[in-house]
Amino acid sequence: MVTSRSALSRNQIVTGLRDLLGDAAVVTDEAALKAASVDRFKKYMTVHGIFQGPMPAAIVRARSTDDVARVLNFANEHLINVVPRTGGTATEGGLETIVEDSIVLDCSPMNAILNIDTENMQATVQCGVPLQALEDAVRALGLTTGHSPQSKPIAQLGGLVATRSIGQFSTLYGAIEDMVVGLEAVFPGGQVTRIKNVPRRAAGPDIRHIVIGNEGALCVITEVTVKLFRFYPENHRFYGFLMDDFAASVDALRQLVTAGYRPSVCRAYSPQDARQHWDWSGDKNVVVLVAEGPKPLADATAQAIEELFATIPHQPVDPQHIQHWFDNLNWGQDKVDAEKADMLANSRLGYTTEVSVDWSRAGELFSRVMSRVEREFPRFADLTMLGAHSSHSYQTGTNLYFVYDYEIHCDPSEELHEYHVPLNAIIVEEALAVGGSMVHHHGVGKYRTPWVRQEHGSAYVLLEGLKRAFDPKGIMNAGTIFPVEGFHDPLQGLHRS
Ligand SMILES: Cc1cc2nc3c(=O)[nH]c(=O)nc-3n(C[C@H](O)[C@H](O)[C@H](O)COP(=O)(O)OP(=O)(O)OC[C@H]3O[C@@H](n4cnc5c(N)ncnc54)[C@H](O)[C@@H]3O)c2cc1C
Repeated sequence: MVTSRSALSRNQIVTGLRDLLGDAAVVTDEAALKAASVDRFKKYMTVHGIFQGPMPAAIVRARSTDDVARVLNFANEHLINVVPRTGGTATEGGLETIVEDSIVLDCSPMNAILNIDTENMQATVQCGVPLQALEDAVRALGLTTGHSPQSKPIAQLGGLVATRSIGQFSTLYGAIEDMVVGLEAVFPGGQVTRIKNVPRRAAGPDIRHIVIGNEGALCVITEVTVKLFRFYPENHRFYGFLMDDFAASVDALRQLVTAGYRPSVCRAYSPQDARQHWDWSGDKNVVVLVAEGPKPLADATAQAIEELFATIPHQPVDPQHIQHWFDNLNWGQDKVDAEKADMLANSRLGYTTEVSVDWSRAGELFSRVMSRVEREFPRFADLTMLGAHSSHSYQTGTNLYFVYDYEIHCDPSEELHEYHVPLNAIIVEEALAVGGSMVHHHGVGKYRTPWVRQEHGSAYVLLEGLKRAFDPKGIMNAGTIFPVEGFHDPLQGLHRS
């Protein structure tokens, strides 16, 4: 736990917030505070009702940019830690309130779609709009945002921008940083900043990137404008291929992408990972591709896929299997609830760690992680699955998304340190060792922070400078991205409590 630096007591903080925004906006219910003290990084302890704290002083439900500005002004004046929240699907501890008497600033009530501009192909929304709601609204007009993370039914635009999220169709449409046209954000002290919507600018460094990916550690995103694209579902072409070798499967993606083709979905699954999605994949790797867009473009992409695989040994998969899988891939509340029930009933769970790597070292990274886990992870026998897939590809490389399932043979309060933390550490360390990035799209949160200096090397000074410049009193989401003494131990990574 990190001690509060505020001169105000917990009760005084709550009273101050009620004076600012009214009683109805300030939640102090014990169960809600416990749930707000963690995110999915601690999902196993959460289902067992174990909350090691500290609990936030209050959850404040913001209804407007002005509400956000007033709360940040109050927090800055009184040195109170603020953790912004929208959809609550964070997986890396970004929502954890590690400082006592924090404020959780819940922006999900800011959920208005403000404008859909079909001529300039952009939509402006408040930060609490669920992506699914925006996608449904633009689909009714024959358009798409092109953004489709698996958490689309629940995640909201503020959090999606704050974490640098990416969706299943990224090879064609890009990741969220390619989609954001402009935005509004509030900085500590309550300063409201609007980055206007323009097609491109060369007016100095791109200041959108101070905000995109800040994970609530610099500012609160209140409004977002994203691009829109025409949607042509009638032209979608689904492909699946079974292959013998994981590195060769990833190399097939490389050949397609570096040749200039942009299949919207572009994935390669190792056999272990594939088996949890498809009961027909056996000991094979599975490559999944989708061609989409205007018909001549989708046809050209489809032709390139077919020509490439005519030169690669494989077994084809019925495209209907792939389409059916896509139609059921996303996670709404039903799947979150089913996972909770399974954790409780069967003492098991699954986690993921996603990293990125150059094409030339992707196969090596996969092998290094698989063999190091087998060699070094003391609870290897409890793993029921360890595998990976490549799901987002670029001209210069790809991501590897490691997936691990295990049975838990320890007290629930020890699960993180016995299983998830050491497995996550091996993957992060190996990614850095082969010159890759320690995080591809889930954000740093609080649990990859121990490696953030190593990730950025001599450029860390730039990142640190942003914190000093925009959050000089250090009130924004302490421990996220930027290490905090008392929580992150510079020599050993994480303190155990
Ligand atoms: C089942 C499942 C599937 C997932 N699939 C994907 C996927 O395919 N692709 C992907 O990229 N991610 C995925 N994620 C991770 C997660 O959904 C993303 O990180 C998402 O962007 C978080 O959005 P949210 O609205 O839930 O944010 P939250 O969980 O509320 O917050 C996430 C982080 O952003 C900060 N934050 C939230 N709102 C704001 C704001 N308005 N201003 C500033 N900071 C803010 C928080 O403090 C926190 O650090 C998945 C998660 C789950 C549980």
